[in-house]
Amino acid sequence: MPNSQTFRPGEAVAIITRGLETAPLPLLRRLLCAAVGHPPVIEYCFGQHTCARCTAIVGDSLAGADRLTGKAIIGHHCEDCDAVILGLTEEQRLLTPVTEAEAETARQDRLTYEGRD
Ligand SMILES: [Zn+2]
Ligand SMILES: [Zn+2]
Repeated sequence: MPNSQTFRPGEAVAIITRGLETAPLPLLRRLLCAAVGHPPVIEYCFGQHTCARCTAIVGDSLAGADRLTGKAIIGHHCEDCDAVILGLTEEQRLLTPVTEAEAETARQDRLTYEGRD
C-alpha cells in the first residue's frame, strides 16, 4: 500500500474518482483513507471510535485519553460536530458518510461487498 508521500496533492482523489464507476465503494473508501488519511468524522460505539469512511478503529474514549476535539460524530448534531463537517476538505469529504442515512448506506455497501465471494 503506497503511503501519502507517493501521491501528489489531489492525485489520490483523482484516481479514486475515476474508479468510482467500476470499483466497489468499500474498497475505494479504504484506499482513500490509506492514501490521504482518515477524515475527522467518526462513528462512536461502546467507547470506540471508528473512521466513518473506512471503519478502521481510530481511537477510544475508554481511558479519556483521546478527546473528540476536532472530530465529528455521525448523528451527534452538536455545533462542534456540524462545524467539523462543514470544514471538511474535498479529500476528507469524498466517500465519507456524514449523516446517519449516509452511514447506513455505507453499511449496506459493505455487506454487499463482503458477501460477494
Ligand atoms: Zn478511514
Ligand atoms: Zn457533537
